[in-house]
Amino acid sequence: MPNSTIAVTGASRGLGAAIALELATRGFTVGCLARSGGIPDIEGASALADRFIPLKCDVTDESALAQCFSELARRTGGIDGLVNNAGIQMGGASRAFPTADFERVLRVNTVALFAACREVYPYLQQRNGGIIVNIGSFFAEMGAKGNVAYSASKAAIGAITRCLAAEWGPHGISVLNVAPGYIETDMSRGYVGSPEGAARIRARTFTRRAGRPDEVARTVAAIFTEKIEFLTGSTITLDGGHGISL
Ligand code: NDP
Repeated sequence: MPNSTIAVTGASRGLGAAIALELATRGFTVGCLARSGGIPDIEGASALADRFIPLKCDVTDESALAQCFSELARRTGGIDGLVNNAGIQMGGASRAFPTADFERVLRVNTVALFAACREVYPYLQQRNGGIIVNIGSFFAEMGAKGNVAYSASKAAIGAITRCLAAEWGPHGISVLNVAPGYIETDMSRGYVGSPEGAARIRARTFTRRAGRPDEVARTVAAIFTEKIEFLTGSTITLDGGHGISL
């Protein structure tokens, strides 16, 4: 997609790195926002280094977010899309889960995601439209013990997606929520790689395995490549059937 620029938050590793790589492979220029900065830490990224614009940014810092979008637009001529992927997981028994941790999870996963949508909006409007993909989670719909804050933060993303799609649809902006199941990354490795976690995922998924980062990346990249205007406001669950398994 020559002359198209997509900003990806949390692009340094895990799903964000895979999404950034897939977009760059398909010809997009990718603004890579993460606290660590740099190009995505994933095999194949260095060969496409000229398609990445690393932007050091903590997404909870709204002025840093605004500066990054401004810098990205200045360097590329404009912004056509955003992938809100940066996220954290903090778990623990609810009876002792600190309010500060609850707020931190919501701050990164939900409030910063909304702020990024708001800050990128004028750039998409300048292009007469665009696409925002929010990365939710199938935990939004599950009763997940020890994950009250994370699940709540991801459930809110579905609501934010629907509301922004309603407000911004008339301006040509599509907003979608891609909700993965278990995918092996730094965030999930402790569970996915454990004998107990692996056995449970084998039993619950129709695929008999966890997902791969490239499967999420190809789903997200297809959304930008296909540009289907009528596809908006939806949650696309990508979990090997885990969430609907009996
Ligand atoms: P990782 O922990 O592997 O990567 C998280 C990414 O987010 C890193 O690039 C990190 O970069 C970035 N990040 C975290 N906090 C901030 C911040 N304050 N500002 C900017 N960037 C930040 O996680 P995953 O790749 O697994 O997860 C990516 C997304 O996918 C998350 O939203 C997660 O909830 C979601 N998800 C993951 C699933 C899984 O099984 N892995 C399943 C369902 C959803 P840096 O540290 O450099 O800032």
